[in-house]
Amino acid sequence: MTPANQIVTRFAPSPSGHLHVGGARTALFCWAFARGRGGKFILRIEDTDQKRSSDAASVGFLKDLKWLGIDWDEGPVLDGIGGGDHGPYFQSERLDIYHRELQRLLDSGHAYYAFDTPAEIDAQRAAARASGVAFRYDGTAARAAGNASAQARIANGEAAVIRFATPPGPVTIVDLVLGEATIPHGEIDDFVIRKADGFPTYHFAVVVDDELMRVTHVLRAQEHFTNTAKHMLLQDALGFRRPIYAHLPVISNPDGSKMSKRDKDKVLRKAVADRKLEAPPPGTVAEPRWAKWRTDKNVQLELEDAQRLAGALAVSLPEINVDDFRRSGYLPAVICNFLALNGWSPGGDVEKFDTEFLKKSFDLARVVKTPAKFDRAKLLAFNCDAITGLAARDFVAAARSHGQSEHPEFMRKLTRAQFDLLASASQPRSKTLDDMFAGNRFLVLGDDAIAIDPKARAKVLESGTPSGLDHLRAMQAILAGVEQWEAAHLEAAVKAYADRAAAGELGKVAQPLRVALSGGTVSPPIFDTLTILGKASVLARVGQVLAAQ
Ligand code: GLU
Repeated sequence: MTPANQIVTRFAPSPSGHLHVGGARTALFCWAFARGRGGKFILRIEDTDQKRSSDAASVGFLKDLKWLGIDWDEGPVLDGIGGGDHGPYFQSERLDIYHRELQRLLDSGHAYYAFDTPAEIDAQRAAARASGVAFRYDGTAARAAGNASAQARIANGEAAVIRFATPPGPVTIVDLVLGEATIPHGEIDDFVIRKADGFPTYHFAVVVDDELMRVTHVLRAQEHFTNTAKHMLLQDALGFRRPIYAHLPVISNPDGSKMSKRDKDKVLRKAVADRKLEAPPPGTVAEPRWAKWRTDKNVQLELEDAQRLAGALAVSLPEINVDDFRRSGYLPAVICNFLALNGWSPGGDVEKFDTEFLKKSFDLARVVKTPAKFDRAKLLAFNCDAITGLAARDFVAAARSHGQSEHPEFMRKLTRAQFDLLASASQPRSKTLDDMFAGNRFLVLGDDAIAIDPKARAKVLESGTPSGLDHLRAMQAILAGVEQWEAAHLEAAVKAYADRAAAGELGKVAQPLRVALSGGTVSPPIFDTLTILGKASVLARVGQVLAAQ
């Protein structure tokens, strides 16, 4: 039961694609608003668009929310979160409820059947366009035809939609963020509330569910602001309460453009153009999809294709969805903190806070109207600070869980001790959880797969007297003689040699080793690197470089 004065918010995503940061921010605000006021936060999946919705997308949304730490009091069940008295929480499972409410509107004369075919509607639209006016459905004839004749046509097998008989008069929307706006008479036509496939439209389902789920506050994206007028008219016709509305500003790129998955395509189109690619790199985007994408700028690649192509072209795609940020190694607490600042601020100089603080401080009065600019550099700086501030133990645990989902090859190849050593060595230089994997692939490659960067070869191995190669040759014998392959023993052996042969300059010896082991000039501290790689790999890689001379 929901107590009469309890605040109830809901996040109601349409499950297509992936949870966008804008959606996550809406969920976060709904969650914080309710939780900070002893209220309830409901999650409802708006899957009435059969063509666009998928179960996989729904599950993805639930997992992303859970990863962010946004848990719901009522909603679909995932790992013990969810359930509740107002279900089902998937709209596709609530059709009988909508049919009941639709019938009430038909009976009271607030709705009617309309039999226009899609082709007829298209023709009406085209006619409106030709005469330079916005299309508004003219319901005069269908309204007049009446329910009885409609029933006969339906019995005859004709397809029908149900339209709302929009009452005359202006509608004034009251919004806690945007203020008031009046939609003049005539702007809202007799809109469809049940489609020909028997499913309700968004407008109808949202109104019914917000009522039956006892929602008191609707916080949602600004794109729905004008829809509110339709929702209010439906609420009146159905005899429902009116929730309080607050529409949240869009999240945009710094240049003001909408932050959308098109941004990924933009990066890929540029990379393809720069490389003057005609055909898709093998194993990336199949024909004819490639041809369509290349010729039509409005076509977007599926996420998987985009990721494969980005991998082949060695470009990184901008993160747009929650899952992109997770895969890039951002901490969920940082994402929540940063998203909260997109469109809201706690006031004062406070910028860094956790969700406990957000729950206590979040208010609608400080939500802004104008688009919030998503500053990636700032997010990265937040993440870097948060990583630096983590207790060593917590960083290793976070790195382990990131490795398990994103880089299983590291988890297979490294022992627990090796992994922990790599993580501890990497924490001070990591901006994201992914850095220690992306920057250290050499640790999990086969010994014969290490390619030496030609610049590093020239600078570190081949120059100087004695040259790096000379040092490597000497080190090969010394390392072969190290019995206990542990950092302390390795350090003693290498340092003793550096004292002897390089006037104590450890770098002169460490750097050629680093190049031989990793192929480049950057790696974790050399004694950690030696320890993690193990004796056999170290000797194999050093031997290989020497043999190639
Ligand atoms: N399903 C709608 C969307 O994803 C929800 C709008 C609303 O919150 O009313 O945009």
